[in-house]
Amino acid sequence: MGIASDFISKVKKAGDVVGENVAGVVEKSKVSYSIMSAEAELDDLFKSLGKAVYNAGKGEADAELADSIVDRIEKKMLAIKDLRERSAAVRGVIICESCGAENPAASNYCSACGVKLQKEEQEAPEEPSDDSAGE
Ligand SMILES: [Zn+2]
Repeated sequence: MGIASDFISKVKKAGDVVGENVAGVVEKSKVSYSIMSAEAELDDLFKSLGKAVYNAGKGEADAELADSIVDRIEKKMLAIKDLRERSAAVRGVIICESCGAENPAASNYCSACGVKLQKEEQEAPEEPSDDSAGE
């Protein structure tokens, strides 16, 4: 946990210096840190699966172990997908369901593969009030 809070406090400082929305920066950093650590855990799971497959090749099959690792890999992938969606929401982008590319929230079609983008909720864009009072 030390690394995470250290990282976040560093980002907080950086945010203070440039006068950005600190809460937003911290939220973004938290999500991207979670994605990073989830990906590292996924890597480890793939390594364990590789070992299990290797052992099976040597005739020391442990089907239960391999199954449980596959199960954990699938759960981890779902968790990462969820985190990516949260990260996209925080940054105001849409992730293409088809190819995984990030697109600006306003786009209707993916810029990478051209597929129609699924939007969870269609928000009417707020028109900025254009009252130039004071001529
Ligand atoms: Zn796409």
